[in-house]
Amino acid sequence: MEFIDLGRQYRALKRKIDGRIAKVLERAQFINGDEVRELAENLAAYCSRKYCLTCANGTDALTLALRCFDVGKGDAVFVPDLTFFASAETVALAGGTCVFVDVDERTFNLDAEKLEKRIQQVIAEKKLKPKAIVAVDLFGLPANFPVIRKVADKYGLPIIEDAAQGFGGSIDGKRACSFGDISTTSFFPAKPLGCYGDGGAVFTDCEDYYKLMVSLAFHGKGSHKYDNVRIGYNSRLDTVQAAILLEKLKAFSDYELTDRNKIAKKYDSYLKDRFTTPLIPEHFGSSWAQYTLILEDEKERDDLQKHLNENGIPTMIYYPIPMHALKAFEGIDTPLGEVEVATRLTKTVLSVPMHPYLKDEEIEFISSKVLETR
Ligand SMILES: *Cc1c(COP(=O)(O)O)cnc(C)c1O
Repeated sequence: MEFIDLGRQYRALKRKIDGRIAKVLERAQFINGDEVRELAENLAAYCSRKYCLTCANGTDALTLALRCFDVGKGDAVFVPDLTFFASAETVALAGGTCVFVDVDERTFNLDAEKLEKRIQQVIAEKKLKPKAIVAVDLFGLPANFPVIRKVADKYGLPIIEDAAQGFGGSIDGKRACSFGDISTTSFFPAKPLGCYGDGGAVFTDCEDYYKLMVSLAFHGKGSHKYDNVRIGYNSRLDTVQAAILLEKLKAFSDYELTDRNKIAKKYDSYLKDRFTTPLIPEHFGSSWAQYTLILEDEKERDDLQKHLNENGIPTMIYYPIPMHALKAFEGIDTPLGEVEVATRLTKTVLSVPMHPYLKDEEIEFISSKVLETR
């Protein structure tokens, strides 16, 4: 059994994907081919945004977004303590300082109340200038944007929505990648919408941000390729990946997202009476990048992981170390009382196989093995 069975997905889409790739190879427009433009248009339409720019990966997408807000030395950027490293790494790379914020214990996402408290602390300390908020759609569930937006507006801060795991999620029918002043996503193969290599995208409704990010992603170009007006990056999604994503986005919107939700419901039906299963708040929709259980304590989590692995069921711990405790961030002083929940979750979470091609009997088998441990 695979944790995320990309081979099964490929076999289901093989004829279409192979056909798309063959076309790119024949036309030999490997960079900026027609598929790249078509994909950006389809992605923008899917997420109801004015602009989408594809780029090399989800980490670059964050870097491009941070550049739009001029994040640099002396700037505080608020980042959830429970996330993938890149959400915070890119802030440090831009020269800013991460202020780690605790997460909600049932949604795993940024706690909006604690966010406001951390912003007030930074203002009171007068060492750093609050500059932006990075809100992550962890495990496929959008962060609590209705409330986070209120806090952001109160303090005049822009929001970067890190939707690397969130593509396909929704709030009140509005899709992930539409909630940030700039939103970013990743097409890393294991994400809800993945390609066959690295890829990413940024989304915005602001023409100025869009134009700046286009320039930055192409070596800071001005009016043409050799008119370089700023220091930028080489960050592109290649045409083969765009062609693959055109087919995968179609499957994603036609049935994969629906199937992901059906599978999560099946897991829920087997497990929810005896285990803490993922909570999807009312009006929210998840794309189920992960199906993550919360156990009583570290021992129960580790025992469950061992039991599942002994039965051939792969599992993952997302994430084993909170951001504030990573060696890479050891210079940042985070009061432990401010990140209690995230710290506890790193010891109690366990993600089980989740992808749209899981079969009923597999969900039943995995669930039965989980149930055996309580
Ligand atoms: C995967 C991921 C990224 C980075 O995406 P890459 O395409 O791997 O660079 C950023 N943030 C989060 C939350 C992620 O899960």
